[in-house]
Amino acid sequence: MLDKLLKLLKSYFGFDRFLPLQEEIIQGVLGGKDTLVLMPTGGGKSLCYQLPALCFNGLTLVVSPLIALMKDQVDALNANGIAASFINSTLTAAEIAAVQEQARSGALKLLYAAPERLALPEFRNFLSSLELSLIAVDEAHCISEWGHDFRPDYRNLNTLRREFPEVPVIALTATATEKVREDIAAQLDLQDAARFISSFNRANLTYAVESKSTSWPSLLRLLDKHRNESAIIYCFSRKDTESMAANLVAQGFKALPYHAGLEPVIRRETQEKFIRDQVPIIVATIAFGMGINKPDIRLVVHQDLTKTLEAYYQETGRAGRDGLPSDCVLFFSYGDKSKQDYFISQIVDDAQRETAREKLAQVLRFAEGHSCRRKYLLEYFGEEWDQANCAGCDVCLTPREEFDATEIAQKVLSAVIRTGERFGANHVVDILRGAKTKRVGELGHEKLPVHGIAQDFSGDELKQLVRSLTERGFLAVIGTDRPTISVTPAGRSFLKCREELILARPKPRDVEPAVARATDFAYDQELFDKLRDLRKSIAEARQVPPYVIFHDTVLREMAALFPMNPESFGRINGVGARKQADLGDQFLAVIRPYAQANGLTDGTASRSPRRERRVSARRPSATIYETNKLLQQGLSVAEMSKQRGLAGSTIAGHIERLIMEGEALDIDHLLPPPDRVAKIRSAFLRAGSALLAPVRELLGEEFSYEELRLARLGLRQRGLLD
Ligand code: ADP
Ligand code: ZN
Repeated sequence: MLDKLLKLLKSYFGFDRFLPLQEEIIQGVLGGKDTLVLMPTGGGKSLCYQLPALCFNGLTLVVSPLIALMKDQVDALNANGIAASFINSTLTAAEIAAVQEQARSGALKLLYAAPERLALPEFRNFLSSLELSLIAVDEAHCISEWGHDFRPDYRNLNTLRREFPEVPVIALTATATEKVREDIAAQLDLQDAARFISSFNRANLTYAVESKSTSWPSLLRLLDKHRNESAIIYCFSRKDTESMAANLVAQGFKALPYHAGLEPVIRRETQEKFIRDQVPIIVATIAFGMGINKPDIRLVVHQDLTKTLEAYYQETGRAGRDGLPSDCVLFFSYGDKSKQDYFISQIVDDAQRETAREKLAQVLRFAEGHSCRRKYLLEYFGEEWDQANCAGCDVCLTPREEFDATEIAQKVLSAVIRTGERFGANHVVDILRGAKTKRVGELGHEKLPVHGIAQDFSGDELKQLVRSLTERGFLAVIGTDRPTISVTPAGRSFLKCREELILARPKPRDVEPAVARATDFAYDQELFDKLRDLRKSIAEARQVPPYVIFHDTVLREMAALFPMNPESFGRINGVGARKQADLGDQFLAVIRPYAQANGLTDGTASRSPRRERRVSARRPSATIYETNKLLQQGLSVAEMSKQRGLAGSTIAGHIERLIMEGEALDIDHLLPPPDRVAKIRSAFLRAGSALLAPVRELLGEEFSYEELRLARLGLRQRGLLD
């Protein structure tokens, strides 16, 4: 049995083995059991009904809420050689009749339909004329009023269930809350169902909270890191999305705004451009994302707080559905709370307002906290997480450094005392920084001796200090509405005795944010880019989204193993029989000459069959370390590239990462000749940013990215560039 399933898995989907739980679920479904599947986004839910559908004699009906996504799902199945179709309101009556005919003749394995169809008597008559083998309910949380996405039409499933009591049901959702799970089981009458609940940890996502005061340069660096990859930036207001998109365009990025106030046509176009990889960056309000199945979103940024942690988990969850490393960054400042507070105060219902306040408080605790973000999120959803270091959040990744805070702590405490211990942190920080706000003026506080005594610290640093001193027990925060801070007896004794105080603070990062940690296994970036271009042109010609052709995971594996003939092409994880025959020639025509020109050899045969589930799970450090060894031997980039079988641009990337991680490397022998470095430097200055693309634009094709990257490193080492 398992053998047969694995054969189907490889020949139709191209995968070598199952992801966690998939096999158990599929075996259960094939046994005719009702099944409830709770897995996070990217867990591999679709396969749990698509593979059984291939085994059954009859038809598998898939109920799915988003009409916009049905066509893509069906296109993806067809591309794998699986007979699937859909019926929804976008089809004409004649088209529907044709699909129904196909289904009756037994030619279809899967049929997708929207829930409102189920209410139509004609449709139910049609269903009873078929041999139905399985009913799959995708996004099953839509049936629950407790969920964030209730669809009244999902209640039609009750009747469907009663009319086809003998047909097994598989319900799938990524919703993490207990209440919704129970509701799904009750509504679909799934009492005896097999339940599969996997961890909701998204291992490939890196979470980070960063200070808003430096969000613009941080954002540019993040987007540079993810250049040409898809990103969503969530903003608070429609106006913000427009101005942010315009600012990004001015910096040379392709970005579009998206919000509910735009014309429906524009919204659809924008979404389409994003899905088709024509525009990589969308700056959106929360209105964006629902109808999007894009598997390769590599970055989700929140410029503002979400209202709930559920929303944060859901929105960040749109990143990295394909399992490849992706970043989730929240920019946070204390002032943001008041924006949300205002909206909460507008809620009329007392109970609802209280709930909203409580939910927001949770988000604030998440953002302000100094404990592992992943742990916080998972525990919020009732899951235990006992790893000490998740290696995938800013807290676990960013080393904190100790510093002598004796003097600055004394200044902060004095400022609190001098202002009479009647003010909040913001006012005290204003005074320390020497601000001349209206309030400072009115109170005559600019005359205090403590006014302006800590100008060498930023506002956020001082607020951080206030928090640290509170944690230390030297300051106390009184009241919740308009909290004031005062100095505790312990604080007073510290001031008197002048003992030394050591506090921890995040290590300043001058090159790249911590989220830019080395995440990828060694694949050839240049070849990957070429394969992406090819994928895009094939997708455009066939009018499907690029991910229907191949996911990034598959292209990366091609760019790591360099298949040279149809047989080894078929060995790539994610290449099934249909795609091997259908797409092999076109992809080999790119891979082969590239590999030959760079002296690379076919590595598909040596790949061990029981390899890690995701290529990304391989640790990256080994490959960078290899490069480092060669670098220490004084090799040139060309020599390293030859020895390692990697493109020069990949080697340059390794070197950049090594330096970013604090390695003191001598790279002088790798730099371009001085006249070219000088040209590159002036281009960086003219471009007004340290990003590569605008500089490449200024200098033209004659300068390679590899050269620009190396020159930038050299200039930075000499302090000639930020
Ligand atoms: P979900 O619906 O749970 O969000 P998907 O069904 O979209 O998840 O699958 C997530 C990703 O995992 C997709 O990129 C898919 O191609 C990939 N995937 C699914 N099953 C396997 C498998 N057995 N081996 C490798 N990759 C898989
Ligand atoms: Zn962590």
